[in-house]
Amino acid sequence: MLFLELAQYFQRLEETTSRLDMADILASLFKNLGVEEVDKAVYLTLGEILPAFRGVEFGVSEKLIMEALSKACGVKVKQVEALYKQKGDLGDTAQELIKWEGRKLSLQQVYTELLQIAQTKGTLDKVMKLISLLKGLSSLEARYAVRIVLGRLRLGVGDATIIDALAVASGGKDLKSLIERAYNLCSDLGLVAKRLKEGGIKALEEFRVQLGYPIRMALAERVASAEEIIKRLGRCAVEAKYDGFRLQVHKDGQKVEIFSRNLERMTNMFPDIIKGVLQDIRAQRVILEGEAIAINEETGEFYPFQVTIQRKRKYGIEEYSKEYPLKLFCFDLLFLEEEDYTVKPFQERRKALEEILSNTNTLRASEIIITDSPKEIEAFFEEAVTRGLEGIMAKRLDAPYTAGSRNFNWIKLKRSYRGALADTIDVVIVGYYYGRGARAKLGIGGLLVAVYEPSTDTFKTVSKVGSGFTEEEWRTLKDLLERVKLSHKHPRVDSILDVDVWVEPRYVITVNADEITRSPLHTAGRTIEEPGYALRFPRAVSFIREDKNPEDANTVEDIIRLYQIQKRVSME
Ligand code: ATP
Repeated sequence: MLFLELAQYFQRLEETTSRLDMADILASLFKNLGVEEVDKAVYLTLGEILPAFRGVEFGVSEKLIMEALSKACGVKVKQVEALYKQKGDLGDTAQELIKWEGRKLSLQQVYTELLQIAQTKGTLDKVMKLISLLKGLSSLEARYAVRIVLGRLRLGVGDATIIDALAVASGGKDLKSLIERAYNLCSDLGLVAKRLKEGGIKALEEFRVQLGYPIRMALAERVASAEEIIKRLGRCAVEAKYDGFRLQVHKDGQKVEIFSRNLERMTNMFPDIIKGVLQDIRAQRVILEGEAIAINEETGEFYPFQVTIQRKRKYGIEEYSKEYPLKLFCFDLLFLEEEDYTVKPFQERRKALEEILSNTNTLRASEIIITDSPKEIEAFFEEAVTRGLEGIMAKRLDAPYTAGSRNFNWIKLKRSYRGALADTIDVVIVGYYYGRGARAKLGIGGLLVAVYEPSTDTFKTVSKVGSGFTEEEWRTLKDLLERVKLSHKHPRVDSILDVDVWVEPRYVITVNADEITRSPLHTAGRTIEEPGYALRFPRAVSFIREDKNPEDANTVEDIIRLYQIQKRVSME
């Protein structure tokens, strides 16, 4: 396929606001692509060059693009800047400046050039490569290539839309669960599309976990009491819940890769964990998961989350790893030697996990009991909380590892505070208000936030948030949001309320609230007969959660469950 044809598809996608139409357009695109092209088209449509976990970024600034445009088109940088000011978008600027026909490059040629730009280290080399790419592109192609390089393609296409489109393109909706399964096992939609194109349904049925490809993480549901855990799971495993950050470790002989909760490659951040993995695991090829938490080596006590989280950093890695060494409390085994362990029951995974860990130093198996008594769970919970842990995690003994899904195979029970919700809520920012009074000078005073609705792949509003941030944080927020602002509501956002500025649903924050109420103003949980749900007295308790993608925010169903827990607690 020519890159121009892909650009024309992008143009059509940009002109539609209906998610269903988007899936149809994409399905026809995927049908027209060959095995060697489909993966690349998937990445580019998502505005990426490779899946995020590969950690390849363009590293190209607006300034660099303007420089390349000026050289490629033979106009002054000042002129490019002026046009950019007028247009507000560098893709549109490129489209206007480029007057030639281009060299009719294929999708694969353009992809390769883009990849080379991303992989090139020196700024000068990057500019040279950009110039040469721009010279080969027509104006429409340049519009999208520039946006991709800047990481601002923003077609409004999410993973779920791609999955729907792949299913339609390959013969039917019922393929969807197979595609989802494969995606959950490798987090690489391009790879899934390629396998499907190559080997059809059979290739997907045979799809297995692979070292080096992060498995989308299994997530936990929540309940209000130990009794409810036993009611749901019967005899089950109960583990301490460590308040650090989750890591998925891939060990292939002496080679180790580490992925975060939202599947970003974090290998370089944790030299102490890598050393531990090589020392403490008695197996060659392993994928395991654990919670990393900083420990005070003098006292043996856990540090609070605020301290542990400082280990997620780009600079000062060595110093911090000495000052705040991490322990990895391992809680699951997903792959061992040649075997996919995700399909095995929890008990079997746990047994094998204990066998390969020498439990000497950095890596330890999480503390665990097996019980069918709510009393015993209660006691374990109390003890955990007194030791500064967050609570407990209960696990169904015979359940497989359900990659990429949140269900009652895992249940969390956290300490709760009186007078507030049983748990904090992760929400996505979908728009903001300019602010009045003291905040007017900042140009931002409140956020409109939403929760996720997986069945429709949309974001439903649940609250306005105007407190919890420092002035400095508001400023940073304004800068970040400015970069993802939109001229209209994002197609995946469902809102009755209006805002001063709509933004792409990209940033997640954690909020606390006094309670959940029913409200006609919000769309979370709203039906024809019933009003939606809203947060009362919400306040931010975190800044941007870098570890969460928008789809990792809490869901409408979570809000409804919290509402029900709240009702039950208030009746007690
Ligand atoms: P989630 O990760 O489910 O979206 P969240 O980020 O709000 O939710 P929590 O509500 O604290 O996190 O609960 C789940 C997290 O608890 C896991 O993702 C993992 O990082 C952490 N955790 C700590 N100890 C354990 C354990 N023993 N087993 C499983 N997870 C654990």
